[in-house]
Amino acid sequence: MRVLLIGGAGYIGAHCALAFLDRGYRVGIFDNFSTGSMDNIPSGCEVYTGDINNVDQLNPVLSLGWDGVVHLAALKAAGVSMTEPEIFARNNISGSLNIICGCSEHAIKHIILSSSAAVYGEPKYLPIDEQHPTNPENYYGYTKLSIEGHLDWFDRLKGLTYASLRYFNAAGYDLQGRMQGVERDPANLIPVVMETAAGIRSELQIFGNDYDTADGTGIRDYVHVTDLAAGHVLALEYLVETQTSITVNLGSQSGLSVLEILDKSREVSGKSIPARISDRRLGDPAKLVASSAKARELLGWEAQYSDLDTIIASTWEIYKGFVK
Ligand code: UDP
Repeated sequence: MRVLLIGGAGYIGAHCALAFLDRGYRVGIFDNFSTGSMDNIPSGCEVYTGDINNVDQLNPVLSLGWDGVVHLAALKAAGVSMTEPEIFARNNISGSLNIICGCSEHAIKHIILSSSAAVYGEPKYLPIDEQHPTNPENYYGYTKLSIEGHLDWFDRLKGLTYASLRYFNAAGYDLQGRMQGVERDPANLIPVVMETAAGIRSELQIFGNDYDTADGTGIRDYVHVTDLAAGHVLALEYLVETQTSITVNLGSQSGLSVLEILDKSREVSGKSIPARISDRRLGDPAKLVASSAKARELLGWEAQYSDLDTIIASTWEIYKGFVK
């Protein structure tokens, strides 16, 4: 089986590459390397450099005969999507349409989309299942919802089956230490905590401690990236076997607060990790936790590595190499 990971040189894509290789797939990676890195790509992958917005680069690669495509090529900074929607429209929406049309035209039967919990917006109930209303609070979330809608039409019209995987908070690193690249200029909590522990930045800002949660800080559902990656392999196998599209959450079904992440990171790293409370970040809900019942039922997927210790320890293993 041959799978093409579009955007496969990024953090999640490269972990997916490991999971597919481990399972015996032949893996191709198409990436423009704007945020991804060649260092992330495991040996054994075929690498194609190109941009999803350039169909002259994309289509020849799609024509090479793939059993499935995983689409991970997206911008993800929700804040930026609110001030610069044009670049999100071009990359996330136009670029995705190029991929979807290209898959259809080159008779690729299955596509897996990196979708996001951001499609749900402010939760109306917890844990969030896939029936929860979709009402994105930011344009980034809307781009993902819109792509899901196009995929649904291409399934109906062209029989292109899809798995839309709605990720919660991806975290952690490959437990065998095969992934060494770190994100440049991260904004997510765990890499920011790690950069502070490593002395790359001077302090962590805790965005609010007056939420309606036990310790007052925001609670999120952190899912280990190796668990996420396993979900992609299972999703492709599900599509091949059933020829039926699915939309599923990938989350750990448990919530961790900012302070729990910080305390564990201090313990694991042995560093003081300076932190101060600052204002809430706009659009941040108090608590987001996934129901992963559907992924368990349809895919047989279970989060195995998404406990706090494994997430923080596997991340510090990488970041300790950057201590200043
Ligand atoms: N957060 C924080 N300081 C940071 C980054 C994040 O306090 O520098 C908090 C944020 O308010 C949220 C949680 O950490 O409660 C996770 O945020 P992140 O940006 O990692 O993911 P999100 O859930 O917003 O996609």
